[in-house]
Amino acid sequence: MEYRIAVLPGDGIGPEVTEQTLLVLERVGEKFNHSFQFQKLLAGGCAIDATGTPLPEETLEACKNSDAVLLGAVGGPKWDNLPGDKRPEAGLLGLRGGLGLFANLRPAILNKELRDACTLRPDIIGESMDIMVVRELTGGIYFGERGRRSGKMGEEAFDTESYSVGEVERIARLAFEIARKRSKKVTSVDKANVLESSRLWREVVVRVAKDFPDVTLDHMYVDNAAMQLVRNPKQFDVIVTTNMFGDILSDEASMITGSIGMLPSASLGEGEFGMYEPIHGSAPDIAGKDMANPLATILSAAMMLRYTMHLEKEARAVEDAVNKVLEEGYRTGDIMSPGKKLVGTAEIARLVAERI
Ligand code: NAD
Repeated sequence: MEYRIAVLPGDGIGPEVTEQTLLVLERVGEKFNHSFQFQKLLAGGCAIDATGTPLPEETLEACKNSDAVLLGAVGGPKWDNLPGDKRPEAGLLGLRGGLGLFANLRPAILNKELRDACTLRPDIIGESMDIMVVRELTGGIYFGERGRRSGKMGEEAFDTESYSVGEVERIARLAFEIARKRSKKVTSVDKANVLESSRLWREVVVRVAKDFPDVTLDHMYVDNAAMQLVRNPKQFDVIVTTNMFGDILSDEASMITGSIGMLPSASLGEGEFGMYEPIHGSAPDIAGKDMANPLATILSAAMMLRYTMHLEKEARAVEDAVNKVLEEGYRTGDIMSPGKKLVGTAEIARLVAERI
C-alpha cells in the first residue's frame, strides 16, 4: 500500500525526533512492503520565521490532502513574547480545528523496563500501567465564547464551556470502540454535580453506552478522578472526558509513568485521518545535541499505523522493537538509570529500526 504523510517537524527537538521516526517508518515500509511518501511542511516557530504565521495555508492544505500528519513539537523562547494568536501554539489549535480533529488519544503506559521512572510506589503501580485517555479536542471551554467586560468589581473576563449532543456522542462512541479492543471499561469524567454542560455530557454518554452492552461504564467527578489517578491508577482502562478536563488528566496520567520522552498521542477526526505527535514539547534545552528521546514520536508513528492505516501487525512490530531495545538496556538521557547503556537520539532510533 502507498500512504502520503504530511510531516511537520516544528521547532527545537521536533526536527531531530521526526527525522529518526521517518527512518523507522521506512524500515516498516521495506519489511512489510508499503510505500510512505513524506512531505515536509512548516508549522510553529519555524513557520513564523519563514512566513510570518504559525500555520501557513499551504501547510493546512497539504495536511488535508494527506492520509495522516506526523508532528514533532512547536514553540520555544524565541517566540514566547508574541501575542496569543501569533504564537507557535496557535498553529496547533489551527491544525486541530482546521483538520476537524475532535478526539485526542493519549495512552499512558508504564513500560515494565522503566518502572523506576514511575512517580508512584511499587505497591500502588504494580507491574505496569496502561490507561487510554480519550479527550474531546475541538469543543468546550477552549473553543467557547470568551471576552472581557466591565463588572461590579472592575473588569471581568469570561470563557464559556458548552457541548452539543453531537459533540459528546461522537467522542463517547469512539471511547467505547477503543475500550472494546482493550479491557472493556470506560470511565466518563465530568463535573455533573455543578455544571449543566456536564449533565448533558453524562446523559449522552449513558445513551451511547446502550449500544455497547459488552463495555462497562462508570462515571467520576473530575476532582475525584484526579485523586483516583494517583491513589489507584490500575482501576482505569479508558477515560473519556471534555477538552479541559482531558488536558489536565492526560498530563497527570502521563506523568505517573515518569518518562515524557516515551509517550505518544493521536488526534483523530471523522474517517481514518489523524495527526500523530509526541506529548512532549520542543525541549529547547537539549535541542540539536542528539540527546532527545525519539521513542515518543516513534510510538506515535505506531499509533498512525494502527489507527489511520489499520496496519496492526506493523504497529506491533514497532512497539515490540521499542520494548526490545529497552529490554536490552539501551537508554537516552531522560530515562537513563545506573547500569544501562546511554545512547543518543539517532542511535536509539537505529536500534529500533534494526529490530523491526
Ligand atoms: P518540554 O516537553 O519541551 O520539556 C520539558 C522537559 O522535558 C525539558 O527538560 C526537556 O528537556 C525534557 N524533554 C521533553 N521531551 C524530551 C525528549 N523527547 N527527550 C528527552 N527529554 C525531553 O516542555 P516545556 O519545557 O514546558 O516547553 C518547551 C517548549 O515546547 C515551549 O515553547 C512550549 O510551549 C512548547 N510545547 C510544545 C508542545 C507541542 O508542540 N505539542 C507541547 C508542550 C510544550
